[in-house]
Amino acid sequence: MSSPAPPHPILRFAPSPNGRLHLGHAYSALVGWHAARAAGGTWLLRIEDIDPVRSRPEFVAGIEDDLTWLGLDWPRPVLQQSQRLELYANAAGVLRDRTFLYACFCSRKSVAEQADGRDPDGAPLYPGTCRHRPADEVVARLAQGEPVQWRLAMDRAIRSTGPLRIDFIPGFERHGRLEAHASRPADPARWGDVVLVRKDVPTSYHLSVVIDDADQGISHVVRGQDLEAATDLHVLLQALLGLPHPVYAHHRLLVDSSGEKLAKSRGSQSLSGLRAAGWTPEDVRRQLGFSAESVPPSP
Ligand code: GLU
Repeated sequence: MSSPAPPHPILRFAPSPNGRLHLGHAYSALVGWHAARAAGGTWLLRIEDIDPVRSRPEFVAGIEDDLTWLGLDWPRPVLQQSQRLELYANAAGVLRDRTFLYACFCSRKSVAEQADGRDPDGAPLYPGTCRHRPADEVVARLAQGEPVQWRLAMDRAIRSTGPLRIDFIPGFERHGRLEAHASRPADPARWGDVVLVRKDVPTSYHLSVVIDDADQGISHVVRGQDLEAATDLHVLLQALLGLPHPVYAHHRLLVDSSGEKLAKSRGSQSLSGLRAAGWTPEDVRRQLGFSAESVPPSP
């Protein structure tokens, strides 16, 4: 299957400001920026800072600084998820009113102990302990202010939407084009009853990301393969909330010399570190396969 790119594709790069960017982020940003530029589209930066503990303002500034240094540009203002918590809470309210969410009082520890297998990220699959709690018990526990998270009633959600498909661009890497795409069936069930509203913030990565992609008119989600499985859940949430489905393109992940995926948590060398060691933006681009001559002209 193949379909033309929309007249004005809109892409986004959506880092979480919990550390400095490394080469893997630079690859993702460059892949998206070049694809948008080549198609006469727009590339947006979005700051995914819903986590109040791990997100830090100095990392937001660092992200903008690193991307500018790399030679990338984007329209402003930049959407920052921490400014939109009320909006996400409202969407969760809609899902809750339609009984697609249920209250869960379980601790992380108890879920790990009773896990019913693993989700695609390797996290314990929720065994459904709170799924059928009597309404009066839930009301009483909520009234007492017990910490609560809200989970998606996956079976019910899938029954309501019926089978869904994901439009994607296979093998999307540097100089990937936005035109040709394929489609595959979505399999959200393997995520089980995921948390859509966390105990500490009135949203979750999965909920915020589908709302923002819709609000920003994202036509193509270009991101790493580590988020490919999350797409199955994202198209389900889009269907439940009546949001459009973007086309997805998941690029390869950069690995270090021991074959491990680059990660801030593993101390992978940051762009700012490379810069301090004397690397130029051209060195980074060349290292990632983007030569100076390959920059398409501005539309
Ligand atoms: N904020 C996510 C991350 O830093 C990316 C989300 C996305 O591209 O959908 O891994």
